[in-house]
Amino acid sequence: KAPVITVDGPGGAGKGTITQMLARKLGWHLLDSGALYRLTALAAMRQGVSLEDETGLVTVAATLDVEFEPGEVGQPVRVLLAGEEVTSEIRTEACGNNASKVAVMQPVRDALLQRQRDFQKAPGVVADGRDMGTVVFPDAPVKIFLTASAEERARRRYNQLKEAGVDVSIDAVLDEIRVRDDRDMNRSAAPLKPADDAQVIDSTGLSIEEVLDRCMAAAGQ
Ligand code: C5P
Repeated sequence: KAPVITVDGPGGAGKGTITQMLARKLGWHLLDSGALYRLTALAAMRQGVSLEDETGLVTVAATLDVEFEPGEVGQPVRVLLAGEEVTSEIRTEACGNNASKVAVMQPVRDALLQRQRDFQKAPGVVADGRDMGTVVFPDAPVKIFLTASAEERARRRYNQLKEAGVDVSIDAVLDEIRVRDDRDMNRSAAPLKPADDAQVIDSTGLSIEEVLDRCMAAAGQ
């Protein structure tokens, strides 16, 4: 079986950037599992399936027609839903929030499980999510739990939004992060926590390069 590096942690800890850089450095595949939950939420809304309709959501998750196309260096992976580009649409706060609502349902998680495991292909995969090391790839030889203080994560997210021209307050961003953390950590289905054999890296106060160096060291590279 191809090797796996799992990178789990709360939203805004820098997993997206770091896993993309790691995958590129190693020449490995990238699994952005959060995108699958975001796509499930988006596809449900488009198909008129309520976010409370668990049976309907399972069907949506099981039949997701999605393609990931790696883009240029530094550019986000292009995401296509039923052939239509939704790369920026799935990154909105609303979509992230809805994703975390569908993600509490165990049958939805089950419906996405095999699709995630299918990313384990030669020469290897870097897997970004909440339960990569605990549930999806429990045998992964390298598990990283990437975290940062809520304040630091809010600051980073706020700066991103400001750059994108979105008008929000830092307090509102911090509130959203706390609500999402609470939902991800306190749900019964695959709650967010480090795997027993994960190496915890706290990125608070570190540059992206410093975090990448620590992850490469953790991966024995
Ligand atoms: O990482 P991202 O912000 O894209 O994930 C969106 C939401 O999907 C998270 O808040 C979390 O609730 C859920 N998720 C999950 N398990 C994963 C990845 C994401 O429950 N492996």
